[in-house]
Amino acid sequence: MRTQPDGPASDAAPWAQARDMLDRPGGHLNIGYEAVDRHVIHGHGDQVALRWLGPDGGRRDVSYAELSQLSSRFANVLRAHGMQPGDRLYALMGRDPALYAGALGTLKAGLIFTPLFSAFGPEPIQTRMEIGECNVLLTTAAIYRRKIAPWRDKIPSLKLVLIADGEAPEGCVALGPALEAAAPEYEAAQTGEDTPALIHFTSGTTGRPKGAVHVHGAAIYHAFSGREALGLSPGTIYWCTADPGWVTGTSYGIIAPLVNRVTMIVDAAEFELDRWYGTVEREKVEVWYSAPTAIRMMMRAGAEAAKPYDFSSLRFLASVGEPLNPEAVIWSQQVFGRPFHDNWWQTETGGIMIGNTPGMTVKPGSMGKPLPGIEAGIVAQDDGPLRECGTGEIGELALRPGWPSMMREYLHEQARYDKCFRDGWYLSGDLATRDMDGYYWFVGRADDLIKSSGHLIGPFEVESALIEHPAVAEAGVIGIPDETAGEIVKAYVTLNPGFEPSDALERELRGHARKRLGAAVAPRAVVFRNTLPKTRSGKIMRRLLKARELGLPEGDTSTLESDET
Ligand code: ATP
Ligand code: MG
Repeated sequence: MRTQPDGPASDAAPWAQARDMLDRPGGHLNIGYEAVDRHVIHGHGDQVALRWLGPDGGRRDVSYAELSQLSSRFANVLRAHGMQPGDRLYALMGRDPALYAGALGTLKAGLIFTPLFSAFGPEPIQTRMEIGECNVLLTTAAIYRRKIAPWRDKIPSLKLVLIADGEAPEGCVALGPALEAAAPEYEAAQTGEDTPALIHFTSGTTGRPKGAVHVHGAAIYHAFSGREALGLSPGTIYWCTADPGWVTGTSYGIIAPLVNRVTMIVDAAEFELDRWYGTVEREKVEVWYSAPTAIRMMMRAGAEAAKPYDFSSLRFLASVGEPLNPEAVIWSQQVFGRPFHDNWWQTETGGIMIGNTPGMTVKPGSMGKPLPGIEAGIVAQDDGPLRECGTGEIGELALRPGWPSMMREYLHEQARYDKCFRDGWYLSGDLATRDMDGYYWFVGRADDLIKSSGHLIGPFEVESALIEHPAVAEAGVIGIPDETAGEIVKAYVTLNPGFEPSDALERELRGHARKRLGAAVAPRAVVFRNTLPKTRSGKIMRRLLKARELGLPEGDTSTLESDET
């Protein structure tokens, strides 16, 4: 395990002060301890840590004291079954209190926590278990029977399967009785800032997913960025809708909120418009962290659907994972009376790097500015050393390493990891520009950039223009090879209710884009689809649209979610 590549003078960085928010008993730092036990020791055990909304209208409050005890019991169960610090626990289940107790208990016991999407099929689960050498699995009886039992013996490292709901199938342990039998106290493992804590697999949008390793010290940055970018402080009512199988589900769905001692809303159900609006109103949610795909679903349902609800508790909404179209920011302001705060980060960075922070003027379509202490740059890879680009120039978004939540390795992929660093920069693989005011604007992934008749075209710009048209719900834009232009722009769109595909509408959309973007950038063809191919974290997979268009192999599709034509 390597330590951080040297970054900016780390002790002087603004996030370094967030260390003082934590207890760090004996100089150790353990995420599980800092997220829950610390608050109990400081007299806040009665505060609600998570308010769980069950799928059928059930509701359960779990206080910090309860969560501390539950996670301690969980840690004791792991140790009683012979699990050792450094072993890996995989979680494969939905948003249930057991998942949170499990994650925190795993960390307290010094094991490494790895969440997976519970909707994954057997194949992606198996590959990831192999890559990360899974030792313990936390899951449900149904998932186990359907997706794991048929091939369990193929993963010899897997020693223990904990079943979170009800009776355990053969060869598994029922979690409920095991927790009851275990002691409710556990002294957290004496992990250090550089001790591995988490493995997060990337979304697989651009290819084979990578297993990014994060350390316990990441909690310092989660404490800081939770406060700085999401405005979290003790008692804030906060709702993160991210799937727990994704890095956002851990960084800002567990660690950042709990170290900041908020009350988190945890909804077991998936997106359902009235349920979501009703939850914000009833629970008086102050900060709502979601993703563009959910926002576009709300937009698709129309502003009318939001009218009956009272959103006055909301301070702002925040979004991550994909570019947030300016149209969505404006819509949010109109419908919720609150701005949408886009922020940018990656599985690799472990935490928010660039964001629209509370109080900042939001420029719709911009990702915002680097958080204090984060040094970002736009760089060009010409021959020789990296060059920093000028204002408005498109280049690769890069960061000076040195913040605590940065990944420490890609599991078993040293070469891929090393390729991310050059001339003192971490290279993100995304293209962006910076304006005169220091705001960053996402252009596209380096792989998705379109070069047409000497123009560099970012798919995001074209997609955003298409979404402005009332007929368009979502858009995915790619470049296809063309003899004269090099590449030409082709768009795939889904339509809002009340609109039907037709040649006339296709012409109209091209005309609309031409007016907005100019002939060189506007798509030459617009194709109507019922859905666009997306990852389970909700990102449009442009590389799949392109592979299909060109009849090329589709590559790794293990994270593909929706995909009908
Ligand atoms: P893989 O690395 O496996 O191809 P991925 O990059 O989609 O998958 P994640 O780490 O989940 O995996 O996503 C990070 C990426 O998501 C960023 O590199 C960027 O392309 C995109 N992204 C995240 N936030 C934003 C944002 N606010 N605006 C634009 N793009 C964003
Ligand atoms: Mg990536």
